[in-house]
Amino acid sequence: MPEARVQILRCGRCGTLDAGPRLLCPKCHAAAMEPREVDGAGKLLSWTIIRRAPARLRALQPYAVCVVDLDAGVRVTGRLQSIEGSFTPGARVRCVARESDVAIFTAEG
Ligand SMILES: [Zn+2]
Repeated sequence: MPEARVQILRCGRCGTLDAGPRLLCPKCHAAAMEPREVDGAGKLLSWTIIRRAPARLRALQPYAVCVVDLDAGVRVTGRLQSIEGSFTPGARVRCVARESDVAIFTAEG
């Protein structure tokens, strides 16, 4: 299975990780958020299937938007690679691709 890393932000002053985008650190308010790539493994927290997408994403519908708690310690949003199969909250997932800055996740293993 291909692996992809997830791009997040890390505060250069206090080290806080954040999914972004944002200019200021949510913890220390420094304008020091720097892009950082982290491992794409984590736990699926929640997801929802989008059956009527906005115009620019219509070709993708139906698709699933998901929230993942990465093992790296940050919560990110992304898309599930496929809406087929059964997912359960807490399931292990991994980022396998990035499309236009969107992390694409699939079940691990
Ligand atoms: Zn900070």
